[in-house]
Amino acid sequence: MSDLKIAVVGAGVIGVTTALEIQNNIRNAHVSIIADKLNEDTTSWVAAGLFRPGNSFAGPNREVTQKWINDSYHHWENIRDSSYGVEAGVAEISGYIFSSEHPSIVRNQYIEKLVPIYRRATEQELSLCPGQWKYGSFFSTIITQSTLYLPWAVSRFQSSGGELIQKHIDSLQSIGNEFDVIVNCTGLGAKYLCEDYKLVSIRGQVIKMQAPWIKTFFYNDYDTYIIPGFDGLTLGGTRQYDSYNRNIDKNDGISIRERCMSLVPSLKGGKELKQMVGLRPHRDPVRVEKEILVSHGKSIKVVHNYGHGGYGISTAPGTAIYACQLVRECLIGNSKI
Ligand SMILES: Cc1cc2nc3c(=O)[nH]c(=O)nc-3n(C[C@H](O)[C@H](O)[C@H](O)COP(=O)(O)OP(=O)(O)OC[C@H]3O[C@@H](n4cnc5c(N)ncnc54)[C@H](O)[C@@H]3O)c2cc1C
Repeated sequence: MSDLKIAVVGAGVIGVTTALEIQNNIRNAHVSIIADKLNEDTTSWVAAGLFRPGNSFAGPNREVTQKWINDSYHHWENIRDSSYGVEAGVAEISGYIFSSEHPSIVRNQYIEKLVPIYRRATEQELSLCPGQWKYGSFFSTIITQSTLYLPWAVSRFQSSGGELIQKHIDSLQSIGNEFDVIVNCTGLGAKYLCEDYKLVSIRGQVIKMQAPWIKTFFYNDYDTYIIPGFDGLTLGGTRQYDSYNRNIDKNDGISIRERCMSLVPSLKGGKELKQMVGLRPHRDPVRVEKEILVSHGKSIKVVHNYGHGGYGISTAPGTAIYACQLVRECLIGNSKI
């Protein structure tokens, strides 16, 4: 029996996680990842990788969204607890979110009942950081550092027979003849490939810094954050809606530095490594669905998986499981399975 040929377009966190899921769960599938940008050229590489899907993250309905989030958390938990957790860049982390605005800002509808600890900050904790913080939460969660996770996942994919092809595609139809199913994990690239005007960029600039004495994450009102990783901190941030500027903005850098240092003054002794910019692929709702495209009279089966906005590292596994199920549905009746 010949192999099923499945293409996953995109090598960010969504593409590689989906490719692994298909490889592990669809018997007889030969999976190829096709992408024009890898590792440090992807948005995924910029992210801090904290598991904290925001209240605005949305799948097709509340039930499916919560399932994606629960499945994701359990997936990351399994990697964290395995012998390869560190190599894969997955670890436990805890920290605070403070707000001077409104109590709802420090709550999270999706993860309060999922993570092991999510509680109100005490009066004493509210004065840990300079500022007039009225509301606060402390919670424990997971960090996935994509600079470790992406190479680990790609190497695992290749050692199980997966193929990585670096090239740009102008349309999904252009590779339609070669594959039984195409899975579209192109992030912001889907804006052009699918002419999807619901997909917009939310620009984020961050500073990578070394300050190894800081082990706890801190957020305030979601604008400012300090998140420790395996080999340094990510300081942020900006959320500029519909901005496509990939250049580092000097003023954004100054503002991030000032805001983070006023929240955690000991950062003044840290060593700044670099600044980075990423364009978050935001869509409401995130698109995980099947589509049949027609090209030259031939039907091309496509499963879309894009638009995770600021929460793609957190939610990649849950949407990958869902996308894999849709691939399976596309293959019903295929003689190769
Ligand atoms: C500053 C910042 C901080 C963040 N922090 C967090 C966080 O703490 N937690 C969290 O969960 N998320 C975070 N995110 C969000 C997260 O980074 C994104 O949701 C995630 O990276 C999206 O992954 P992706 O695979 O869809 O896109 P990408 O990583 O951009 O990958 C897209 C892939 O598609 C390929 N592609 C696109 N078009 C084509 C084409 N035509 N032909 C061939 N290949 C193509 C690209 O080459 C690339 O390989 C953050 C993002 C930013 C910018």
